[in-house]
Amino acid sequence: MIEALQDAWDAVAGWIFETLVQPALFAAGLMEWAEDAFDWIGFVMFGGLQVVVVYLICRPLEAWRPVEPREDGRSIRTDILYTMLTRLGLLPLIAFVVFASVQARISGMVAESGWIPPTLEMLFPVLREWPLLALLVYVVVIDFGEYWRHRFQHMFGWWWALHAIHHAQRQMTFWTDDRNHILDDMIGAVWTGGLALLIGVPPGQFPLIVILLRVAEALSHANVRLSFGRVGEWLVVSPRFHRLHHGVLGSGETGKNYAVIFPVWDWIFRTGDFRRDVFPRTGDPELPEDMATGGWLRQQWAGLRRMGAALVKAR
Ligand SMILES: [Zn+2]
Ligand SMILES: [Zn+2]
Repeated sequence: MIEALQDAWDAVAGWIFETLVQPALFAAGLMEWAEDAFDWIGFVMFGGLQVVVVYLICRPLEAWRPVEPREDGRSIRTDILYTMLTRLGLLPLIAFVVFASVQARISGMVAESGWIPPTLEMLFPVLREWPLLALLVYVVVIDFGEYWRHRFQHMFGWWWALHAIHHAQRQMTFWTDDRNHILDDMIGAVWTGGLALLIGVPPGQFPLIVILLRVAEALSHANVRLSFGRVGEWLVVSPRFHRLHHGVLGSGETGKNYAVIFPVWDWIFRTGDFRRDVFPRTGDPELPEDMATGGWLRQQWAGLRRMGAALVKAR
């Protein structure tokens, strides 16, 4: 089964390379880049796969029981642009650069010093015999890291200036998941990739974890009236749970529900709101209109400007 998928994947990559990329490289006299370009196709295809999987799961749910009508088509299109730029452009680029240079350099350094950082499998050898348990442990640790990254995004003024773009959206759909500042995306990639490297996630399992995170995060932004019930709400982040995080609420009621996959962190650190079965309006009335309804470039610029102002203020 896995081998058949691998073969199909390679066949598609080969086809894209031969029909689109190779002729273009040839025409431009850049054939020395052919090998790099082939690796690159793999990363872009992986981004495309994420978009397709998320769409197939989330779009029918949004059609089934929407929280609110899709009135602001322009804002939704901006979020779709965010997804395309992030999944098919920026993240494949980061992955490519990291794989090509940083990883080679790190493993070179490690080999030279003779020191191998301890991984979870070395600390807990039982994980080697239980691959599914190992996968779950990796997901839990990475999710813990994501919880704290999210807390910090709200805690530090300069980081909030960037994360504010994500919270400015008043027409929230599953596309909103990717509505982030480029700089914030880069920090996130280093944070998550670095943690995965640190705990020794096998490279073969990392894509699976990325897909899991993607589906969970996109679903939590979906415009669907869905909660996972009394017990489920405590186990997995639902659209209800995350909508409260984005909600326009009264004072003292905001700043809740930071978790990405497992709400247990909000439970442990007392930041959870598990009670209310409400689906509030989303957005942040305190943010400038540029951040809410401006196009991609305006939002990026507004985030950068506010970050600069926050840094100056902090000094
Ligand atoms: Zn947030
Ligand atoms: Zn969100």
